[in-house]
Amino acid sequence: MTVMTPPGIKTSGDYIEDVMSIVKAKNAAEPEFHQAVQEVFDSLRLVLQKHPEYRSSKILERITEPERVIMFRVPWFDDRGEIQVNRGFRIEMNSAIGPYKGGLRFHPSVNLGILKFLAFEQVFKNSLTTLPMGGGKGGSDFDPKGKSDNEVMRFCQSFMTELSRHIGPDTDVPAGDIGVGGREIGFMFGQYKRLRNEFTGVLTGKGLSWGGSLIRPEATGYGCVYFAEEMLKSRKDSFQRKLCLVSGSGNVSQYTVEKLLDLGAKPLTFSDSDGVVYDPDGIDREKLAWVMELKNVRRGRIREYGEKFKKAIFMPTDIKLEHNPLWNIKADCAFPSATQNEIRAKDAGNLINNGCKLVAEGANMPCTLEATKMFLEAKVLYGPAKAANAGGVATSGLEMAQNSARLSWTREEVDDRLHKIMIAIHKNCFETAEKYGTPGNLVNGANIGGFLKVANAMLDQGLV
Ligand code: NAP
Repeated sequence: MTVMTPPGIKTSGDYIEDVMSIVKAKNAAEPEFHQAVQEVFDSLRLVLQKHPEYRSSKILERITEPERVIMFRVPWFDDRGEIQVNRGFRIEMNSAIGPYKGGLRFHPSVNLGILKFLAFEQVFKNSLTTLPMGGGKGGSDFDPKGKSDNEVMRFCQSFMTELSRHIGPDTDVPAGDIGVGGREIGFMFGQYKRLRNEFTGVLTGKGLSWGGSLIRPEATGYGCVYFAEEMLKSRKDSFQRKLCLVSGSGNVSQYTVEKLLDLGAKPLTFSDSDGVVYDPDGIDREKLAWVMELKNVRRGRIREYGEKFKKAIFMPTDIKLEHNPLWNIKADCAFPSATQNEIRAKDAGNLINNGCKLVAEGANMPCTLEATKMFLEAKVLYGPAKAANAGGVATSGLEMAQNSARLSWTREEVDDRLHKIMIAIHKNCFETAEKYGTPGNLVNGANIGGFLKVANAMLDQGLV
């Protein structure tokens, strides 16, 4: 049904442009936040045309304004006894469908704009998971690289001393992200428990013996590959013998490679902020186990892979280049799993020219708006982060459910639920894209599918 816009009333395009200008003016110098909002708004043109009630209730103005932003000082002593001061954040973006939920990132690049983009994305992602979770994100400009375990512990304890006032199992449940893995979650959980004198599921990604869920560490990478498998199935294809590029070498990358091996694909690369390793023989299980030990235990650099496995080639990062050589290696599928905007227009062009058929985003917003547009125009199967990497937060939701029930499910049960959730997310995105007249465009499918549930809950709950 086409709804005509009455004279004197703004078209959905004008309304979106007006709100976008307001977002840019109110959140100046936050380019990543503008980028994330723009991408969602571009998809919503189709929805606003059909639903004038979202306009009259100012849903776009409300959904782009965090419910609460917390910013705080994090002072701590380093191993030399010197005082260090970092900045901590928590963005409580939207609680229309559940308690705030989203990771904590510790990385020197962290600032308010980056966390706002991540929190905004999280709202739609959590909505897609089918579980009752609102959206949030937080972190610090603290850099865990090169710090001793004691320094990381002192930082985490100071960070949690302030954060503990704002979170809780029914209010806001943080998890890990870049720079925050099992070690950091452990230190923060210990401090929360000491301060509040209560043992609750206030964080996810916990250790198995103290409330964690099996499969949570694997979930984002496994989920991304399950999602990509559904994308391939939609073209009657599979992962058998597919050459795959994976960036990063952290949590998401490691388990993406593991699941790709399970499904018969041949992963070729890993990277970190120093450079890329390309292994033409493929990364097998033995090499993957070596990388896991390198990254999770020794906390070393990926260049060592090139020294250990003689046929592998190490290419150092050159920040003067406007492309990453990783995305210029001939392959069938690409899994950007490191950080935002790591695939730019030139990289997208290289992937397309080399015959890449599928891009599934393990990282959050790893493609620029221009790169995304190029993939969609070239009819590359393109799985946007909100959908493709939602397996991590979905399994965090399953960890919360197990904590509430005070029991734990088996590895098979959690993996099976994760797999079914990823199939359901793909189905929702695929069918929504079709319903709104853009078949195959999973960006529209994810943005619209995620938005509708949150927007309708906001309408139901009145002006809050
Ligand atoms: P991680 O374990 O800390 O690993 C991050 C990896 O990306 C490392 O290899 C890191 O290299 C690399 N990296 C980070 N920043 C970089 C930069 N500016 N330039 C080049 N390389 C960079 O983090 P993760 O949990 O795997 O997260 C990776 C991505 O997935 C992020 O976008 C995150 O938001 C997203 N994600 C994670 C989860 C989850 O459950 N963990 C869920 C959904 C989405 P260095 O060690 O050199 O920094």
